[in-house]
Amino acid sequence: MDKWGVESYLFIKTIKTMKQLRKPNCPYHGNKEDVVRIIYGFPMPELMDRAERGEVKLGGCCVTDNNPEWYCKKCKKDIHEVLIAG
Ligand SMILES: [Zn+2]
Repeated sequence: MDKWGVESYLFIKTIKTMKQLRKPNCPYHGNKEDVVRIIYGFPMPELMDRAERGEVKLGGCCVTDNNPEWYCKKCKKDIHEVLIAG
């Protein structure tokens, strides 16, 4: 798989994961109103529109095991799944 192939794969994987995951409450202010999904990988034009509307946050192309899944626009903090589980 070339570089673009890998990024498209990650993008598609993220979109599929989005549909499966329930949005968590923000652990800092207690509800999920301002919580958005963080999308990693190459942003498609449609995705950039969604980011501009504040529906998602773009996390860049550097994906590691420790990347947060969610972002709170109100608290301006990344939310890790482990924080919510605990
Ligand atoms: Zn918050």
